[in-house]
Amino acid sequence: MKNINSHRVFKRNQRDPNPDGEFVLYWMQINRRLNYNYALEYAVGWANKLGKPLLILEAFSCDYPWASDRSHTFVLQGMKEHFDTVDHRSFNYLPFAEHETGQYDQLIMNLAGRASMLITDEYPVFIMKKRNDTYPARVEVPYYTVDSNGLIPLGLTDKDPYSAYLFRKIMQKHFVEAFTHPPQKDPLEMLENRSGIVLPEAIFDGLPDTEEVLNGIEGFVSGLVIDHSVKPVSMHGGRKAALDRLSGFISEALLSYGDQRNHPDVKMTSQLSPWLHFGKISAYEIVQEVLKYQPEEWDLDRITYNNGSSGGFFNGNSSIESFLDELITWREVGFHFAHHRDDYDQFNSLPDWAVQTMNDHRSDTREWNYSYEELAASQTHDEIWNAAQTQLREEGLIHNYLRMLWGKKVIEWTPDPETALQYLIDLNNLYAIDGRDPNSYSGIFWCFGRFDRAWQERPVFGKLRYMASENTRKKVKMKQYLSRYGNQRSLI
Ligand SMILES: Cc1cc2nc3c(=O)[nH]c(=O)nc-3n(C[C@H](O)[C@H](O)[C@H](O)COP(=O)(O)OP(=O)(O)OC[C@H]3O[C@@H](n4cnc5c(N)ncnc54)[C@H](O)[C@@H]3O)c2cc1C
Repeated sequence: MKNINSHRVFKRNQRDPNPDGEFVLYWMQINRRLNYNYALEYAVGWANKLGKPLLILEAFSCDYPWASDRSHTFVLQGMKEHFDTVDHRSFNYLPFAEHETGQYDQLIMNLAGRASMLITDEYPVFIMKKRNDTYPARVEVPYYTVDSNGLIPLGLTDKDPYSAYLFRKIMQKHFVEAFTHPPQKDPLEMLENRSGIVLPEAIFDGLPDTEEVLNGIEGFVSGLVIDHSVKPVSMHGGRKAALDRLSGFISEALLSYGDQRNHPDVKMTSQLSPWLHFGKISAYEIVQEVLKYQPEEWDLDRITYNNGSSGGFFNGNSSIESFLDELITWREVGFHFAHHRDDYDQFNSLPDWAVQTMNDHRSDTREWNYSYEELAASQTHDEIWNAAQTQLREEGLIHNYLRMLWGKKVIEWTPDPETALQYLIDLNNLYAIDGRDPNSYSGIFWCFGRFDRAWQERPVFGKLRYMASENTRKKVKMKQYLSRYGNQRSLI
């Protein structure tokens, strides 16, 4: 029987390995880590099989959609941490930061021309998806993408799951097998050929010196031709910060997550999404760590298939059950959806009932109508919404619960659902440090009915689930949140 991890590997063209190639190339695009990384592990396997050294390329592109000082700084901080900590005598790690559009592509094509084969990250959205659709035909060597995004391999589903319940059933069937076939903690340990790769100077002709960039990230980013209005966040983009955040969450919040996670004032969620997005930490290692805090008598035999219900699967601590439901089911349903749907970011990918109900309510009168600029600047009549948008604009995140309200309200305040969708995608992907992720699209499209069902009909929303700011105010603790981010906040 095939190992479950074989469902992570996608052969993207039909070329044979180049026997004269100097190395196997691992192109780290999004899962930017050297540990618990199936793609890196797969690349090490091929390097050993071909007897070649491995070249790990971690590159930075300067001009992707919604590029900002915020996302650029985060990526470069992570690269600097790798550069400073990798043992350069044993591993060929090549960081690269382009100054101008085209330099990245030039380097990839040059390196692919010298490689035996190319292995990179499978990722179902954004520029990585586009690259993985186009580069395989451009290079002369085998091009494999390997999914290291989550617990349940992308190749295990055969179509887009339309609900979390449906995906949870699949997850429950495969969890134990996936969990017991983990990625290696340190795949580079297995690498046999550790010869240094000497690349000719000509490859770097006209390209910037990345070491200099990494030693002066702020100056480099401020010199790029992009919009500089979105400032870096206080979170550091390295793996160490991700691991620190995980241990902080486990010691301070994990066992209260079930009861407390919806209250912005108590901050009981993990806040791990920025590092998960850039792949600095693997979902697998989070699950592994968290399961250590199950009651003493708990073990994997307690896990019971529960026909897709969100409780009664892990059968241990209820907070852990609820955290893992978010981390595995809710996070991964979006990856699997986008994996099967090229139109994952299009209005028409919404379920028929949702499109129909929005069409039925197109001409309903909207009480408020805000422009993109007014929304971006938190200039609405709604104090809670403004606070959430201020947190997003200034800190790159919105508290988990308020993010749903933030999305829902824009549907009410724009002339039509397509405009609401576009505004939300732009606001989220520009300001959110975890934006441009499969979960950006699941979260936003959830507001428009994806993975949801029809509710009681009402004006403007039709049968879409409705959320009201005043109910939220009554339901969750947010006094401190509002005094921190609200319009009346103290400026001291
Ligand atoms: C309108 C809207 C936009 C969103 N945009 C993004 C985005 O750009 N990037 C992003 O990663 N998530 C997004 N989400 C999903 C969710 O809000 C965030 O993942 C969560 O707030 C991250 O906070 P946390 O790390 O403290 O989560 P925790 O509660 O600690 O959960 C742990 C992890 O589980 C996953 N997770 C939790 N809740 C969800 C959820 N509802 N859907 C999918 N995955 C979830 C995340 O990876 C998260 O880091 C969006 C949701 C909505 C409603």
